[in-house]
Amino acid sequence: MDLIQDNHLTQFTVADVMISADKVAHVQLNNPLEHALLVLVKSGYSAVPVLDTSYKLAGTIGKTVILNQIIGLEHFEGEKLSELYVREVINEDIPVLKKEDTLLKGLDKVINYPFICVVDDEGYFAGILTRRTILKQMKRDYYQQKY
Ligand code: AMP
Repeated sequence: MDLIQDNHLTQFTVADVMISADKVAHVQLNNPLEHALLVLVKSGYSAVPVLDTSYKLAGTIGKTVILNQIIGLEHFEGEKLSELYVREVINEDIPVLKKEDTLLKGLDKVINYPFICVVDDEGYFAGILTRRTILKQMKRDYYQQKY
């Protein structure tokens, strides 16, 4: 219980540890799937945020959903990569965080998602909070309390 009450998870906010938007790989709604797949493969990430043309958060897109589109019954339908667009397969049903939310709230959300998008009050994309960041913070808290 002490761990929850006294540690950085409740003192720190999402803004303190998030990866800011300028360092986050993203794709846009009107990009063809081949561009999205290129970004995902070259960055090594399994999913990235999707933004609209005004840099508002629209959702996320991952490798699996793209590959599902091109796996036909008998062979790979690679031509679909240039015919389909991110907006057609985007996952819009995602949780979001605000910069002023506590890390504890972030911890709750990263249980089911490897990263959570952070937005401002108008929905503009501000960055992401990752599982790695939360775990690093928890490890730091653990050792600080122990010694
Ligand atoms: P991690 O906890 O560092 O393994 O990151 C979890 C997930 O967050 C990755 O698989 C990506 O989907 C996403 N992610 C982490 N860092 C970035 C970044 N700089 N740009 C885009 N997506 C990222």
